[in-house]
Amino acid sequence: MMSNIFITEETIEGAADGPLAGRTVAVKDNISTADVRTTCGSTMLEEYVPPYDATVVSRIKDAGATIVGKANMDEFGMGTTTETSAFGATDNPTAPGHVPGGSSGGSAAAVAADEADLALGSDTGGSVRCPAAFCGVVGIKPTYGLVSRYGLVAYANSLEQIGPFGETVEDAAALLDVIAGPDDRDGTTREPPGSSERPTSYADAATGDVDGLSIGVPTELLEGADDGVLETFWDAIGELETRGAKYHEVSLPSVEHAVEAYYVIAMSEASSNLARFDGVRYGHSGGYDGNWNEAFAAARREGFGDEVKRRILLGTYALSAGYHDKYYKKAQDARAWVKQDFDEALSEADVLASPTMPVPPFELGESLDDPLQMYLADANTVPVNLADLPAISVPAGETDGLPVGLQLVGPSFGEERLVRVASALS
Ligand code: GLN
Repeated sequence: MMSNIFITEETIEGAADGPLAGRTVAVKDNISTADVRTTCGSTMLEEYVPPYDATVVSRIKDAGATIVGKANMDEFGMGTTTETSAFGATDNPTAPGHVPGGSSGGSAAAVAADEADLALGSDTGGSVRCPAAFCGVVGIKPTYGLVSRYGLVAYANSLEQIGPFGETVEDAAALLDVIAGPDDRDGTTREPPGSSERPTSYADAATGDVDGLSIGVPTELLEGADDGVLETFWDAIGELETRGAKYHEVSLPSVEHAVEAYYVIAMSEASSNLARFDGVRYGHSGGYDGNWNEAFAAARREGFGDEVKRRILLGTYALSAGYHDKYYKKAQDARAWVKQDFDEALSEADVLASPTMPVPPFELGESLDDPLQMYLADANTVPVNLADLPAISVPAGETDGLPVGLQLVGPSFGEERLVRVASALS
């Protein structure tokens, strides 16, 4: 059976000891590793070898971890199934014949298949939480600014964070402990408020104590979910109730616009971020003579896959003069509204809960010809990136033998609370 978890299987040894000594980590292939190929799942960067480590990579090496490979991913992070990788699809180890989710599908699959103890992914609009849900493992999308993006190849930089995967909540939290914290090389990183007064160990927060906790369930995030997914979700909420939590319904009216706003913003940023891949400074070069316009066009025509091209074209259109106010500006307004709705809902509840994905994992090949169906599957994950908030996906159970994930969303820098609640389920 094909698995295709890694694009490059190369061992990178870390320090002799540290909090992650003896543990193996898979690293998504859009996170730079010095002297080891970093392809972003793209022909464009097939031969690209970065001269430096991403900050998260230096931190896990210093913490004693051994990197066991660069994990497969949707090309430049654009996808929900890992099938847009130029290097072929990855099978789901927990549900063979199905996609592992995306875009960090190789990272989640590595943990699910015991090819690595832990993994790093990146989450621009669900790319850690979706594969965690589809592979039955735990994934955390940190608050924007908690983890350095230095060395992460940008897809949509205002939305994305690097996040950890583990078999258990405690494992994922232990990796977050190592990668979190300000970095001079990423000006968007911040110290969590109040962190000077408390010992910040996310792993220590995995106590499973939910007594007295209030859980808000946004009704809009249940709409469109598959019946089997909903049943599994409510069973997990029932489990939290038996441990002393209470739930009530809350509303996030703006999220009906979240998928549209997300894709306009993500594609606009992508069209700008990916302009650097011109075959001169980075990556695939068609080796063309002739004028530079033709040479750039050839390098990009050959180097990028269809999904990446679609997004560059749409993003360029959304940003062009005359359309900017109609699309990009509107999407930014919707983003502000989504943030406001989350703030309100989180003033009425300690955490918000929903299914991570409205559907169980697709069969391999099923969604490839229907990009819109794929975009809509992100309905519950992308609002969180628009709002810059932290979230975790934890296994909730199964429907028809396929894994279902439960997503918890917390207030800004509320990762410890998410770890505490999620650990009641794992
Ligand atoms: N499915 C989303 C997209 O394609 C997720 C991307 C991500 O988080 N990298 O944009």
